[in-house]
Amino acid sequence: MAIVVMKFGGTSVANVERIRNVARHVKREVDAGNGVAVVVSAMAGATNQLVAWVREASLLHDSREYDAIVASGEQVTAGLLAIVLQSMGVPARSWQGWQIPILTDKAHGAARIMDVPGDKLRERIDAGEVAVITGFQGIEPEHNRIATLGRGGSDTSAVAVAVALKADICDIYTDVDGVYTTDPRIVPKARRLSKISYEEMLEMASLGSKVLQTRSVELAMVHRVRTRVLSSFVAPDAMPPVRPGEQTDIGTIVCDEDEIVEQQVVSGIAYAKDEAKVTILKVADKPGIAARVFGPLAEANINVDMIVQNLSADGRHTDMTFTVQASELPRALQVLKSARDDIGYFDLNSSADVVKVSVIGIGMRSHAGVAASMFKALADKGINILAISTSEIKISVLIDAAYAELAVRTLHSLYGLDAE
Ligand code: ADP
Ligand code: ASP
Ligand code: MG
Repeated sequence: MAIVVMKFGGTSVANVERIRNVARHVKREVDAGNGVAVVVSAMAGATNQLVAWVREASLLHDSREYDAIVASGEQVTAGLLAIVLQSMGVPARSWQGWQIPILTDKAHGAARIMDVPGDKLRERIDAGEVAVITGFQGIEPEHNRIATLGRGGSDTSAVAVAVALKADICDIYTDVDGVYTTDPRIVPKARRLSKISYEEMLEMASLGSKVLQTRSVELAMVHRVRTRVLSSFVAPDAMPPVRPGEQTDIGTIVCDEDEIVEQQVVSGIAYAKDEAKVTILKVADKPGIAARVFGPLAEANINVDMIVQNLSADGRHTDMTFTVQASELPRALQVLKSARDDIGYFDLNSSADVVKVSVIGIGMRSHAGVAASMFKALADKGINILAISTSEIKISVLIDAAYAELAVRTLHSLYGLDAE
């Protein structure tokens, strides 16, 4: 018997009819003799509604109460799916995070999973019962409080459950039939990748492709969990059940890079709209200034991403530009204003009207010239680059938000990713 973890996102469980469709996917695996754990998200829009209510109640709210509220969406879907499965003659039981328990740290709102004891679940699954588990939540054991894993966190719950159960595969069912070369909603010519390496998927996710939560890819990579992204919108009986060791060309498998035979230089393009740019005008061009700028930001737990320091025209002063998450911009400006006397600068300006576009590919390790061709293609379209950052397998540029789609489409064609 194979152990299969199946995760269904919000659009896949948007109403009771969709939940019935999910139950048919689950029944297919059960009928094939597989042991199944299902991880569910809240119904589409439910988490947004809960978050909106919390904000309406108070902008400055207690994060433990935020978690108590937003975790409730998943509880509804887990119960509903268990009921629907039972009505189809499939033994099933719902499990909330605290019941398993999925143990987390104390970072309410963005908690990390510390441990998932799998024994109890495994016994029930071996006895033929489907475990339907609430995604996105766990319990922080010291204070016995519900904790949530950050938006998109059900992907991470699914991978963690797969680790705990030593599952053969972690199937992430969503509203697209795999990981594409870029967001298929922006570029209709995007192509489905049949395989993508953990490293590339990690970059894609962290650079804005929200098809998988970044932390889920990290966890899958560390534990070498075979993770597949596929669509719940395909008819349940048109899909073959999981058979250990059998390969099909369904969805996208996230796997080791050695498994990928035909490696492209660039495998995918990601974009992130939640960046904001800060420029500090006229700081002294001398040792120690960068530490005085970034020290207080780090102390305030604000992550700085791209950094550019302009050449000094007079040899004495320079401008410094960097990016932070857009949601952190007000705090970042506050921190810099409080540190103004210590840093010594003329003025500050900022903009959230920027987007980070990234090209990703492990082929870049052995190929020169990717950055040069990228910059030229953007220049030919009249797109100005505000900041650049690179790693071994990616190049990111910050540009005006208005050019986001044009840039993604241009680069998608440039690197030969367009579908015929
Ligand atoms: P779920 O609710 O199932 O978790 P998400 O909305 O979180 O679904 O993720 C699926 C969405 O991710 C797709 O609808 C698609 O628009 C978006 N997406 C962004 N980048 C990509 C990509 N490279 N490949 C596939 N989907 C992508
Ligand atoms: N329901 C949560 C969210 O909308 C978790 C998830 O769907 O993965 O962020
Ligand atoms: Mg998601």
